[in-house]
Amino acid sequence: MKIGISACLLGEKVRYDGTDKRNEDLIHLLDGHELIAVCPEREAGFPIPHEPLEIKGNTVITSSGEDVTEKLHQGAERCLERIVDCDLLIFKSKSPSCGIGRVYDGSFSGKLIEGDGVFASMCKKKKIVLCDENDLERIKALLNGQR
Ligand code: SF4
Repeated sequence: MKIGISACLLGEKVRYDGTDKRNEDLIHLLDGHELIAVCPEREAGFPIPHEPLEIKGNTVITSSGEDVTEKLHQGAERCLERIVDCDLLIFKSKSPSCGIGRVYDGSFSGKLIEGDGVFASMCKKKKIVLCDENDLERIKALLNGQR
């Protein structure tokens, strides 16, 4: 399968704080598949490290209150071009870019609310199968050809 995946899950140090979120279980599971690593925040040109971002209403803001909605959208659009023909997408949880179903609420206090990251939301509209990194059982089933 051709699989688009959040770059930080593969060990790339692209997170806002300069770290990665390497997921060994996932990497092991994906062995032998074609992986396309994408990071909308890096693609948007945010330096590493950079201030944390959160979604607030219809905008994306930095922790000091700068509106970076357009910038992140542009990075996400460019990533989308690279993964649009993938069979499956696997994204980092809770991220304002990649998160599926739950994101931080824009108060920078650690509170989660229902919602998708900017990039995840765009990918959903393209109807590509999307999985949270923690949903290993579903990922296994999809890799085995079950929907
Ligand atoms: S934007 Fe996505 S790929 Fe990049 S660091 Fe955040 S969660 Fe990882």
